[in-house]
Amino acid sequence: MPPSPRLKVSLVEDRFNDLCARLGIDPPPVRFIPGARQTQKHGLTLWGRADVLTGITIYLNIETLEVDRLRYVSRELVETLLHELRHMYQYETWAPERIDADRKRPYQEQEMERDAEAFAKSHLSEWRGIVRVSRTQPSSPFSKLACHDRRQMV
Ligand SMILES: [Zn+2]
Repeated sequence: MPPSPRLKVSLVEDRFNDLCARLGIDPPPVRFIPGARQTQKHGLTLWGRADVLTGITIYLNIETLEVDRLRYVSRELVETLLHELRHMYQYETWAPERIDADRKRPYQEQEMERDAEAFAKSHLSEWRGIVRVSRTQPSSPFSKLACHDRRQMV
């Protein structure tokens, strides 16, 4: 039996740069990491993180994401990326005091989260082309990259 296909995920740089320009921020680094360990911790197959210094990291559990549902996976990825990018925008444009005060609230009540969620949902269809998702085989360069990323995280 041939090895089962996996997902290849990449950023469409031009579109992403357009979006960042629209927001008035410099494009942050974006990394996609097929890290099962992180996703298990959060009980999710896909989650993201925005950090002022390191940029956006999106963890996706390649093993459990459904390879047959590329459109669904792509949509989830774009929504997560938009959400995290909005956090980058907030870090650059909101006053530090406003962010500090907001972070003390329960997660569901945080203004930053509500703003990021609203932004992601309302821009999802306009910017769905910023991520490209396709099927690949485990021997592809993406798999090697994935192994490389896992090593780095230890
Ligand atoms: Zn968030």
